[in-house]
Amino acid sequence: MDLVLFGPPGAGKGTQAKLLIERMNLVQLSTGDLMRAERASGSDLGKRFDEYMSAGKLVPDDLVLELVEKAVASAPAGKGIIFDGFPRTVPQAEAVDAMLSRLGRKITRVVALEVALDDIVDRIGGRRVCQDCGQVYHVRYNPPPADGKCGGCGGGNVIQRKDDNETVVTKRYQEYKAYTEAVLDYYSKQGIAKSLDGVGALEEVYERIRAALGSQG
Ligand code: ADP
Ligand code: AMP
Repeated sequence: MDLVLFGPPGAGKGTQAKLLIERMNLVQLSTGDLMRAERASGSDLGKRFDEYMSAGKLVPDDLVLELVEKAVASAPAGKGIIFDGFPRTVPQAEAVDAMLSRLGRKITRVVALEVALDDIVDRIGGRRVCQDCGQVYHVRYNPPPADGKCGGCGGGNVIQRKDDNETVVTKRYQEYKAYTEAVLDYYSKQGIAKSLDGVGALEEVYERIRAALGSQG
């Protein structure tokens, strides 16, 4: 079972993906995390990603798809993939369908987290992430340990993302509305999309996702 966690920036996709991979036979494929890792390596490709990411713009499809193709090819056999933050355009969705089909894989469920803009702004404003393991925190709803170390990996690198500022968040939301929302229609037409309320305690949202996945888990 491959699945997509869908929703606007800050909807809780990464947070829920981390819970799902702990509890189900799944691995997370977050294009944002892959791009941040490439950027941290200092490579030319990472610098190209950064031009778009720091402006809140979508990275061009061809660059994203190259990255996804490599990540899918190296995904552990026998585990389903949770696509997090991908696909973000209809051409990306079409391309990944073709890519997976060549490998005998298929996206069988798309779970869309619905969160209003006010909550998104509040969530992204308070988001903190561990640079080492990607664990996601929120200063009020899920605070990082007081000693500044990450509870997930014990590292000390919990930071605020540089694109989590008001100007860039506004742009990212505009990009979501302009290009990404249509991806949900693409999957709805295939009859595999389910939308659910993304507001509530982490475990409540998790249970809704589990229910939406039904027997597929
Ligand atoms: P996305 O991956 O969709 O951009 P994240 O998982 O990074 O979103 O979550 C964005 C912020 O919202 C983080 O600070 C996270 O701790 C917080 N968050 C996630 N889920 C919830 C929730 N159910 N209630 C309150 N805050 C949440
Ligand atoms: P995220 O970590 O999902 O919040 O993504 C952070 C940034 O990475 C986005 O604002 C985009 O610049 C870029 N990005 C991540 N995933 C994609 C994608 N699938 N397509 C295009 N750009 C992406």
